[in-house]
Amino acid sequence: MGTSASVTNWAGNIVFGAGSFRRPDSVPALQELVAGSDRIRALGTGHSFSPIADTTGDLVSLADLPKIAHIDPDAATVTVSAGARYGEVTGMLTAAGFALPNLGSLPHISIAGACSTGTHGSGNGNGALATAVSAVELVGADGELRTVRRGDAEFAGSLVALGALGIVTTFTLDLRPAFDLRQWVYEGLRGFDDVEEVLAAAYSVSLFTYWEGEGFEQVWIKQRDTDPEPPLRWLGSTRADGPRHMVRGVDPRHCTPQLGVVGPWNERLPHFRLEFTPSSGEELQSEYLLPRGSLVDALRALDRIRDTIAPVLQVCEIRSIAADDLWLSLAHERDSAAVHFTWVADTAAVLPVVAAVEAVLEPFGARPHWGKVFGIEPDAVRALWPRLPDVERLLRRHDPAGKFRNAMVDRYLPA
Ligand SMILES: Cc1cc2nc3c(=O)[nH]c(=O)nc-3n(C[C@H](O)[C@H](O)[C@H](O)COP(=O)(O)OP(=O)(O)OC[C@H]3O[C@@H](n4cnc5c(N)ncnc54)[C@H](O)[C@@H]3O)c2cc1C
Repeated sequence: MGTSASVTNWAGNIVFGAGSFRRPDSVPALQELVAGSDRIRALGTGHSFSPIADTTGDLVSLADLPKIAHIDPDAATVTVSAGARYGEVTGMLTAAGFALPNLGSLPHISIAGACSTGTHGSGNGNGALATAVSAVELVGADGELRTVRRGDAEFAGSLVALGALGIVTTFTLDLRPAFDLRQWVYEGLRGFDDVEEVLAAAYSVSLFTYWEGEGFEQVWIKQRDTDPEPPLRWLGSTRADGPRHMVRGVDPRHCTPQLGVVGPWNERLPHFRLEFTPSSGEELQSEYLLPRGSLVDALRALDRIRDTIAPVLQVCEIRSIAADDLWLSLAHERDSAAVHFTWVADTAAVLPVVAAVEAVLEPFGARPHWGKVFGIEPDAVRALWPRLPDVERLLRRHDPAGKFRNAMVDRYLPA
């Protein structure tokens, strides 16, 4: 990255306003940079659609730091560079006989970016990706390295911290034994009545709709290979006879193997393959997490505005996430369902529809994904996260001068 003012996020909807773009090649160089900077933030792989990574000061990529991936087989943990992309690490874990509990839909994103925004995959029993973290090492505002471990009083506020607590250098992640999955796609699930049963049917489940009718065009099932093979017809839907992409017109080669072929967790949990563009590649995204028990009512409410949603929608995905105790997590203290929208890449056309969706989902206590497009006002956001004031206190204590703050943090977590 140079000093060009036209560096954007992956989607191109955010032009970063940073004064400089830096790529330190060692942790001491990063520490020196942080110590000497007035305003600084880390950029992961830039896959967020919100201005969460932006800063007017120095924007730092960790891509040139030496890569660390140290597996401790006895503790069943890996300590890994925060800037590493999941796809750069998961193959090595599998080869060593280990797995992470879950992954997002794409392996392209950095571990730090994912764990700073509440990124999640699916599965009633699977927490957001940050719930696998047992320790985080970061460079604080004074340039010093410090480590926060699970069990420390501040731990639950030190993950999903929106990049505002410092520049994370490594995470230690819990591992479990490697496992195999197989992926099936079903087509034509009518209505909403069976959604909870469907979400509970496998290790990880995603339902996709274009909001053109009541129901789901596709259901993706990622099941343990030890579970019985599901039937050809299920709840009125039919198993697809070939590979599918959930975005119409995109080649299914971009997706991880389907049709029930058994494969390792890291080649089935993401929808998309590292070597291809994920999703449609030309898009905006929004996502809201609500208490899982409200999902069917929320879907019925959204169905009433489907004529508003459909014209600017590429696809909508429903997933589930287990509750956690992380203070700013989207699934904080509630078993959740996620309603995700992949919109067309047209901010002016999409924003009014985002507002309409938010009005419909507001009574359900829907929390917006920190890394995606949303317009909910700060007061309403405060009401959704009971521990948000504790995070504000944490930021004041560790970053009194606001070195790691940006406009988005100032808006939602004022100093
Ligand atoms: C095609 C596509 C598919 C997606 N699928 C999913 C999905 O399945 N589930 C889901 O929940 N989300 C999904 N997302 C959203 C995505 O996971 C989040 O936006 C995530 O933050 C992206 O990670 P990143 O590395 O690009 O982070 P960036 O966007 O670069 O940064 C995000 C935040 O992390 C902070 N950060 C980055 N590195 C560090 C560091 N070292 N220390 C401190 N803070 C840091 C940044 O400052 C910023 O605040 C998807 C996005 C895209 C484009």
